[in-house]
Amino acid sequence: MDKSEVLKEIAEQVSACTKCDLHHSRKNSVPGEGPADAGIMLIGEGPGFYENEQGRPFVGASGQFLIELLQGVGLSREEVFITNVVKCRPPSNRDPELDELTSCSSYLNQQIEAINPHIIITLGRFSMARYLPHARISKVHGQSIWVKGRLIVPMFHPAAALHQPSLRTSIKHDFSRIPEWVEKAMQAKPPEVEDEDEVGGKTSFEGDEPVQLSLF
Ligand code: URA
Ligand code: SF4
Repeated sequence: MDKSEVLKEIAEQVSACTKCDLHHSRKNSVPGEGPADAGIMLIGEGPGFYENEQGRPFVGASGQFLIELLQGVGLSREEVFITNVVKCRPPSNRDPELDELTSCSSYLNQQIEAINPHIIITLGRFSMARYLPHARISKVHGQSIWVKGRLIVPMFHPAAALHQPSLRTSIKHDFSRIPEWVEKAMQAKPPEVEDEDEVGGKTSFEGDEPVQLSLF
């Protein structure tokens, strides 16, 4: 199977999934979308009202803001892969719960393995926690971290940044640095395609040698 077939297969599994209670209240599951060979992947929290209606990620107000942020660095939403840590809407937009995050994680793992992006931008604390479970987003946002040859960049969630002027300034600044990270990621060896279940542990902060390079 090629990458796009794998992604299609994952999306089909997600649309029929009953692994956690979120399936009871969802209208449409939201597997995510974008090119199968995207160099950049953005991971949000979970579908909101409009996403649940349409089955597509980031189509509401925070999606509009996300598109503006991407356009600021010359990217369109069609050029990046956009998804979430949970694929079904938590009722009333509450935070996803631990068992929901755990049940859903294998879909995201498989998506990352298939796409194998050079850069993953986490949006908000739930997707950041995949890589940096103990970090505070207010401290680490906009810093890049190598995890298994891939650059992980935690950022604030656009929904939070939309209405808070200080976060809005921060997220705009962080997005403006995407070209820098693209260049950095392109100079390194491509990411290992490996078991995504094992993320975490071996990380190094910006300025350090990429973990990957030490394996040359
Ligand atoms: N917020 C998210 O985290 N994800 C979406 O898809 C939409 C809004
Ligand atoms: Fe399945 Fe994830 Fe939806 Fe839960 S949130 S039902 S694990 S697809």
